[in-house]
Amino acid sequence: MRTPEDKAQRAPKCVDLAILGGGCAGLSLARELAKCQTLDSVLVIEPRQTYQDDRSWCFWANDSQALSPWFGHRWPRWSFGKINAQQQHRGCDDFPYRYVRSIDFYRASLAIIERCPSIELKLGHAVTDLSAIEPGWQITTDEETYIARQVVDTRPPAQSQLDQSTLHQCFLGAEIKLNQPVSLDTQTVELMTDMRLVDGEFCFTYVLPFACDHLLVEVTFFAKRPPTRACLQNQLNQLLAKRGWSDAQILRTEFAELPMGLPLVMNAKQKQPVLAGMRGGALRPSSGYGFLRIQDWAQRCAKQYISDGTLARQTTSGYWLQKMDQIFLNVLRHEPARAAEIFDTLLSKTKPVRFIRFMNDQATLSDCLQIVACLPKLPFLRAFLRSLPTLFARSD
Ligand SMILES: Cc1cc2nc3c(=O)[nH]c(=O)nc-3n(C[C@H](O)[C@H](O)[C@H](O)COP(=O)(O)OP(=O)(O)OC[C@H]3O[C@@H](n4cnc5c(N)ncnc54)[C@H](O)[C@@H]3O)c2cc1C
Repeated sequence: MRTPEDKAQRAPKCVDLAILGGGCAGLSLARELAKCQTLDSVLVIEPRQTYQDDRSWCFWANDSQALSPWFGHRWPRWSFGKINAQQQHRGCDDFPYRYVRSIDFYRASLAIIERCPSIELKLGHAVTDLSAIEPGWQITTDEETYIARQVVDTRPPAQSQLDQSTLHQCFLGAEIKLNQPVSLDTQTVELMTDMRLVDGEFCFTYVLPFACDHLLVEVTFFAKRPPTRACLQNQLNQLLAKRGWSDAQILRTEFAELPMGLPLVMNAKQKQPVLAGMRGGALRPSSGYGFLRIQDWAQRCAKQYISDGTLARQTTSGYWLQKMDQIFLNVLRHEPARAAEIFDTLLSKTKPVRFIRFMNDQATLSDCLQIVACLPKLPFLRAFLRSLPTLFARSD
């Protein structure tokens, strides 16, 4: 480790573009720039030393999407239902539910980045300070100081910002191998089953069956106050016991605490780096899905950078979708006891293809109207009235 005196003596290294954080968004942008064989010097600063299989990315997508090399498993159908009720099934052959294993994504992205000599990935280093200078930015890490012409910041949002989210999506999952195959429908994902209240917070089960003896099993909360890890573990243990999977081998676990309705911090008077990934509002407020938006942004941003040297803003919700999500989250926050009924109605009454378009930011006006029409009116009217003071406030 270098001392502060060492750092002060060395002239800072200058780069054209610094990407803070080499997770999903940071690596995606670096990968897209590498594909374009950028000649600009690009530095990605990432604290982890090695990449692990730490998460699963799921979404609905057809085969033609450019991301297809990473596509892992696919399921044409999904099921849902309240606790102790019969599960309902829906499906869409053209847009199956897809799975990307994070380690496949990391390895594939790293292999592409390595082939581009102008991109440097600095693993094992954390950014400790970012300050605006003229022209550009000064970045301090635990080892070095850098000067960058432009910066994309994909570090996770500060805890104080996360705390202000309308709700927190918290989940704990275990990828398990059963001792012997069981009778399972391996074509159907349990998207939202066992929907119920636990200590006043909305909770449900999520199961991805890879094979009759290999599954990812998760418990998820949409909660005002994030449940403790012990509470999540307890719910997961109960679920495994209920399904008869308690003695399965645990291959890996994954945990998340995702903001739902993260307030974006923008100060128009100060110079801002481009914020991307979760920090830039990539996660859909009402679902926590963000992978496809991050990929969309990374491709647009790299193209724009190569063509005119400027950086594109993170893909987020359009204006009306943002308002719909804000009201939806307000209902879930204030009336969690109605959440199971609301999701059950939404999933059963909306045509699968409309539902997928809605989840993938491609909803038409008619899709939105149909979704609004099928939902119970009173809770949404109350949420609309409660949200009025902030609903039409400018967010940037
Ligand atoms: C377990 C899990 C499962 C998820 N499942 C899905 C899903 O199924 N579908 C979906 O669409 N979305 C999903 N998401 C949400 C979202 O897609 C992911 O969180 C995604 O990884 C967000 O990308 P990101 O680049 O913003 O954050 P990350 O991928 O977390 O990257 C941020 C990076 O910043 C680095 N960093 C932290 N501190 C510093 C520092 N001081 N200096 C420099 N770098 C720093 C971190 O090490 C990390 O690599 C999931 C999230 C999690 C956590």
